Amino acid sequence: MSKEVALEDIVSLCKRRGFIYQGSEVYGGLAGTWDYGPLGLSLKRNIMNLWWKTFVEERDDMYGVDAAILMNQRVWQASGHVDTFHDPLIEDIETKRRYRLDHLLEDNGVNPEGMSLEQMAEALRENNIKSPDGNQLGEPQFFNMMFETAVGPVKDEHSKSYLRPETAQGIFTNFKNVVDSFYPDVPFGVAQMGKAFRNEISPRDFVFRSREFEQMEIEYFIHKDDWRKEFEKWVVDIKAFLSELGLPEESVHEHEVPAEDRAHYSERTIDFMFDYPHKRDELLGLAYRTDFDLKNIERESGKNMEYITKGGGERFVPHVIEPSFGVERAVMAVLVSAYNQDEVNGEKRIFLKLPQHLAPVRVAVSPLLKNKPELVKKAREVYDLVKKEFSNVMWDDNGNIGKRYRRQDEIGTPYCVVVDFDSLEDDSVTVRDRDTTEQVRVKISELSEKLK
Ligand code: ATP
Repeated sequence: MSKEVALEDIVSLCKRRGFIYQGSEVYGGLAGTWDYGPLGLSLKRNIMNLWWKTFVEERDDMYGVDAAILMNQRVWQASGHVDTFHDPLIEDIETKRRYRLDHLLEDNGVNPEGMSLEQMAEALRENNIKSPDGNQLGEPQFFNMMFETAVGPVKDEHSKSYLRPETAQGIFTNFKNVVDSFYPDVPFGVAQMGKAFRNEISPRDFVFRSREFEQMEIEYFIHKDDWRKEFEKWVVDIKAFLSELGLPEESVHEHEVPAEDRAHYSERTIDFMFDYPHKRDELLGLAYRTDFDLKNIERESGKNMEYITKGGGERFVPHVIEPSFGVERAVMAVLVSAYNQDEVNGEKRIFLKLPQHLAPVRVAVSPLLKNKPELVKKAREVYDLVKKEFSNVMWDDNGNIGKRYRRQDEIGTPYCVVVDFDSLEDDSVTVRDRDTTEQVRVKISELSEKLK
């Protein structure tokens, strides 16, 4: 079995098998946007549902919200996004193509970590770095990544809004609402999943760096004295979740972000890195955001964000630990971890060794031959039976049985159930295992139980 995975292998499987397509593909695409096909959508939803179940439904200290994507522009002024949510940009003076300066440095073997814009410009000159087309580069500048839009029929300064660049602010703006409705004990968390938009200078590496993507974020409100303890607990919980996603421990790395590279509000950040095919890169972040956001809201809105302990003993603005997951980066890490190749009967085989709870199709049911009505009838009965147990069951009678197995292997279906002529006699079916390709006979009456 080989585990060398190239990005092109993942991209091509995703397109071939209906996981992920380029956005607006028929019109030549729109850079940094991707569309999920039936199987990709199912995989993505399975990941998001697992996250929600793990971090919200199975805990009693968590509250979910689903805030509007469009928010009052003051949210983004208060949060600092209007002034500081930018990336360093550099332009090829010939082609006018624009690049992300820190990425260009990295691509040329210079580590930009901790460098200011001036230092990056200096490094560019010292190393005589040219654009990827070999041309001279202009002066670096910062580029704000928020997509601006106007709300309402009149376009002026008051109508200005942004597509949210993170889901976190929709949580902070609802902090007081949740406290007033539920009066939870501190510590407690508010969670949100949903779309976020960033006008990335150069989207790349498949869905890893997109302009429209989804986040799963939690703001965990704590007493400031407890931040170290709570931070460590989150490290443990995140690792357990990544293991549920089927990511091998050796492919996940914790990067303690040095002070000079942390967001200005963060006193500690760990980036959880994953070994993607393009490089080791950020899968998710865990940050101690102090009371920065709630204090900003207090200042900007004039509303009090204090929490009063039950009995009124203490009032304080809670501090916050923030685990911030990117859905696309999780989808990609899951696909990379699951991607496998081996040889079966002298033929190369690609299969996705997805954890069963994430597989878009849990079981595929086939009649051995699709032109034999008695087999089709029996297989339909089996299909209906299995479908009652698992919702994501696929009816598959396309091509010969060998082709069906290959296709189901490639989309990560753990089990294929085949109804053949013997089934008509002995009320049994063949169940084939994706990973071992072994086939066993199972009584139809015991099938659901066995598949579980
Ligand atoms: P990067 O340094 O890679 O640009 P970031 O540090 O700016 O990422 P955060 O602001 O911490 O990212 O966002 C939280 C999470 O959202 C990231 O860990 C990632 O999973 C996801 N994310 C951020 N930007 C993108 C993007 N352009 N495409 C897909 N996912 C993203």
